[in-house]
Amino acid sequence: MNLKVTKSEDCLIFYGLTPELIKVKNVYNSISEFMEKKQANDPSDRFNLILFLPDGPNYLDHFTFEKDHILSMLKSVENDISNANIAGGVFVATTFVIEVYKKISEKIFRLLVIVDEGSYGIPSQYLPALEELIDKVKDMPFFIDVIYIGQSNYEERNNLAKLVNLSKGDYYEISDIKELNSILMELSYKKKITKPAFGKQEIPMIQEENQPFYINLADDPEAVSEISTCSICFQQGNESIVRCPSCHTVAHEVCWAQWAETSNIGIPHVYRCHNCFNILRLDKNYIIDVQTGKIPTIAELNKMKKKNVVEYLREIEAQSKPQVVQTEDPFAADIRAKIGAKKEETINSEKKRKRKKKKKNPCELKFASNH
Ligand SMILES: [Zn+2]
Ligand SMILES: [Zn+2]
Repeated sequence: MNLKVTKSEDCLIFYGLTPELIKVKNVYNSISEFMEKKQANDPSDRFNLILFLPDGPNYLDHFTFEKDHILSMLKSVENDISNANIAGGVFVATTFVIEVYKKISEKIFRLLVIVDEGSYGIPSQYLPALEELIDKVKDMPFFIDVIYIGQSNYEERNNLAKLVNLSKGDYYEISDIKELNSILMELSYKKKITKPAFGKQEIPMIQEENQPFYINLADDPEAVSEISTCSICFQQGNESIVRCPSCHTVAHEVCWAQWAETSNIGIPHVYRCHNCFNILRLDKNYIIDVQTGKIPTIAELNKMKKKNVVEYLREIEAQSKPQVVQTEDPFAADIRAKIGAKKEETINSEKKRKRKKKKKNPCELKFASNH
């Protein structure tokens, strides 16, 4: 039997609405209410925003608990938003989430794509690359929801729907912006995931064919030569003591092997550091030998307590406020032909927009945290 459960969510909002068609002010309140409702439901939910500016995709360097950071980023760049390239945006958003997943456990990741007729749809030839990526990350778990405003053509709808279905997300197409609010309210409910209810292994296993991807994300613990105190059993020594490359916490390999039994990510020898949640890996057979009692353990693991992930994330956010980062759109070159075709349609409104646009120092786009 399986149980349906929810978890704390990290939600990345991909704002892909075209300024000539839909102004930020028309959707600002809906996006604000969406985040508000999610946080009222679970204060540990976090947010990020990705959108296209003339220099490419921009987003915050980390998820934030504060919805105001998202709203002020949206406000501060509203006059510079460019047509979104959906393929590039989904790719950049997903690789960002992979980086976060590498460091943080106990989360469900969600990508909320809000696009319209002015966004560049996913060309069919780039679909396989995106499908392959989504197929791997869906086990994190990772969901993609899409709200399309306007009328998509058959190919665009089909390609978007494929990615949505692959991640078990939801797809909506609306003709009127007024419907956005009620859809966002629906989407503010948590996603449900399945958890095995019985058996020793309560962690959902990662599918065999996707395991190499996750094993590659993991770091090998580093060897330590000096005498150190194991952070799990508190005994001193330098025999088989290793450290987490991310936070430098030291532990016996054997202690970590035992810890991995309850803290693996769905692959028995790939687990989270108990201090910083970074993904680590040990030798597969070594883990089996420890967990089946062939290699005796030093630790009394019942004394161990896992850090609270939300407290940990709040500590991190208190140390550094999120900053806007700009990145390359990997599909930009390929989308050029399509942009050329669309330019004809939008050339007049584009001209108008350019006239209105003042020269802006790139530094001004940097998100000011004290606003
Ligand atoms: Zn130890
Ligand atoms: Zn660590």
